[in-house]
Amino acid sequence: MNYDVIVVGSGPGGYVCAIRCAQLGFKTAIVERYAALGGTCLNVGCIPSKALLDSSEHYHNAKNHFATHGIGLDNLRIDLTQMIKRKDDVVKQTVAGIQFLMKKNKIDVYNGHGTFETSNTLSVQTSDGQKVIQAPRIVIATGSKPASIPGVTIDKKRIITSTEALNLTEIPKHLLVIGGGVIGLEMGSVYARLGAKVTVIEYLDAIIAGMDRELGKETKKVLEKQLGFSFYLSHEVKQVQNNGDAVVLQAVSRETGNAIELSGDYCIVSTGRKPYTENLGLEKIGVNLDKRGRVIVDEHLQTNVAGVYAIGDVIPGMMLAHKASEEGVFVAEHFAGQHPHINYRNIPAVVYTWPEVSGVGYTEEELKETGTPYKKGSFPFRALGRSRASMDLDGFVKILAHQHTDELLGVHIIGPRSADIIAEAVVALEFRASAEDLAIFSHAHPTFTEAVKEAALAATGNRPIHL
Ligand code: FAD
Repeated sequence: MNYDVIVVGSGPGGYVCAIRCAQLGFKTAIVERYAALGGTCLNVGCIPSKALLDSSEHYHNAKNHFATHGIGLDNLRIDLTQMIKRKDDVVKQTVAGIQFLMKKNKIDVYNGHGTFETSNTLSVQTSDGQKVIQAPRIVIATGSKPASIPGVTIDKKRIITSTEALNLTEIPKHLLVIGGGVIGLEMGSVYARLGAKVTVIEYLDAIIAGMDRELGKETKKVLEKQLGFSFYLSHEVKQVQNNGDAVVLQAVSRETGNAIELSGDYCIVSTGRKPYTENLGLEKIGVNLDKRGRVIVDEHLQTNVAGVYAIGDVIPGMMLAHKASEEGVFVAEHFAGQHPHINYRNIPAVVYTWPEVSGVGYTEEELKETGTPYKKGSFPFRALGRSRASMDLDGFVKILAHQHTDELLGVHIIGPRSADIIAEAVVALEFRASAEDLAIFSHAHPTFTEAVKEAALAATGNRPIHL
């Protein structure tokens, strides 16, 4: 069968790419090795983790905050089976939505593992036998898989990845989390809210270290205070063993050399993800990979092999669903002769702890490193009426602007609903707004977004109203 475009992988990179290709009039096929479409994000990533984060947040609030609101509850209890089932239902509905969109856009779906035979021929092992499909343009959107570290073997029973953590049948008493990145903090939050003691062991001297460092510091403080997290920063995990009903973890401080031993009942290994290109036949067609196994692409997201493109987690860059989707749209529009553009600097990063953490643009550390003259304004959520009403008092908005031109350079937030609030900052940065612009726009009262206006007022010359 011949197509104009074949997309390999149906995650947020692949399925969005396929839809945009179809919208632009290309005869399009998508190939997915699993029965369910949607990739990591819909099946074992963004969506199920947010479903569990929402459920666990409800429980945590009911247990810890309802009484203050004057709401009494007797016999509050957790039905973990139902919680997991609701999460599965959310995933099922979302996946069904993608299946519908494929049909609506007349995209042929091939369920089976795809392998390049030539640069424009793919063979797919389907349950109906091998299918061979061809297209002058093939997009690799095969995503990523969890990565481990030396000394740690994931047994999927007690030494687990985020995928198994989404389906536990009991609430851990003591959950060890290797890696203080986004996934570790999110899954740790789920189980801490449900009653687990959570200990995070992080190699670096900060958590969520890729974001502005002030965010990590505040997140650590809040997780310690609100959920009783313990952190071992600057610790290198050497070994983890499953002893049947417990896991024992050994680590060494990178500062003092002191060894520690921790025991828990589960250990989540959230030390990052690696690109997935297994049995894809890339060697056969000569696609170049970098040292970390990522597909190397040029400014049009084309590999070194003409007609073969790659997007999403499988190429260098942030491993985020919306980054993958932007790249999916980019290649489709490039195929149509348009001139799309992605401003990678303005792709927001988000952590769905509570409070949520988000950031876009340059971090303060980056500005210092490059010697960029900057000014800064911060505003704490606790000074907002909206925050007092909902008792969401932790966190702040921090705005970085150019010292001389006042152009916005970065916005970093830890606070209630900051995953949504950051969109305002993305628009402002995209339009190259100044801090003054953000400061003078009207923000509805009472809303959490008023903290953005106040931080912008602070950045433009120490004139926040409510501080
Ligand atoms: P994927 O979603 O990984 O999809 C790749 C697809 O390709 C898979 O379905 C795979 O089966 C298929 N495939 C691979 N090889 C072949 C082959 N040879 N033939 C056929 N099919 C193949 N990102 C966010 O932006 N926000 C979040 O809140 C968020 N939360 C996350 C939570 C967790 C627990 C995890 C693990 C990740 C989270 N992410 C989040 C990251 C996000 O899931 C990824 O960045 C995103 O899924 C990458 O999209 P992709 O299309 O590149 O690849």
